[in-house]
Amino acid sequence: MDIIDAHLHLSHIQLFADTATEITGVDYSAAGLARDMEEYSIEAVIGMGLVETEPGAFPDPLAANPMGLTMEHQIPNVFTCLGINPWTLDAEGMDALREAAKEPMVVGLKIYAGYYHVSLTDPLYRPVYELAEDMGLPLVVHGGDTYSIRGVMKYSHPLAINELAVQYPRNIFVMAHFGNPWVMDAAVTITNHPNVYADMSGIIMGGDGSVDEFIQEPLMMNYVKTGILYSGHYDKFLFGTDWPLVPIGPYIRFVENLFPGEFHEMVFYRNALRVFPRLEAVLKAPS
Ligand SMILES: [Zn+2]
Repeated sequence: MDIIDAHLHLSHIQLFADTATEITGVDYSAAGLARDMEEYSIEAVIGMGLVETEPGAFPDPLAANPMGLTMEHQIPNVFTCLGINPWTLDAEGMDALREAAKEPMVVGLKIYAGYYHVSLTDPLYRPVYELAEDMGLPLVVHGGDTYSIRGVMKYSHPLAINELAVQYPRNIFVMAHFGNPWVMDAAVTITNHPNVYADMSGIIMGGDGSVDEFIQEPLMMNYVKTGILYSGHYDKFLFGTDWPLVPIGPYIRFVENLFPGEFHEMVFYRNALRVFPRLEAVLKAPS
């Protein structure tokens, strides 16, 4: 099965590097990613742009816009969603974003809701949504729990994305992490809004053992499955991992367990092509 991992990281972020070393056992490097892509038939990945100006600063209010992938790599089919820092979105920041967004390997933008304490409907973000609409770029929005003790989760709750989708019906939004743990709120949001999708990344953070424990605990599997079933929209879910916060192989097994087999090709591959038109343009270009 060909796979697109629609949500991972490839930036020098101290917390991610420490998590890889101490918790998940992942080789968080370009070489490590290249090996995993080969081993698990991952045709393409989308890295969420993120920058910290000094180790440990994430979520960093000083990072310039846009935030990209800061880890050197020579891997084909590594795409980017440019990260947005609402605190440096001045005219210069917007110019830099507009310029960087022309690059064909840039397939979308990423909003770090909850990490940055700014409401998704705050006027600060308006120029970003307008640019995204103009350029046909979807916006991945962090949804649910934050991997930071400095996160304020009312900003990343799925119902905040519901409000966003009502105000900006012409933008395409991908709610990261299926809004976990508020999966029912996420489910009703993607059901009600034709312009909202969800990625399945980051629902588990941990190593192989943590993923296996989750898969073997029906109470944990069932709450996620209930949200998926309630939404009834298998065309709205995208596979993603949030690597290096979880190893890719076991996480593929986890997502396979959540969805009926007949929908695997959609969730692991086809839905991502539909949501990210530039990704499809590059992957399907005649060589
Ligand atoms: Zn992430």
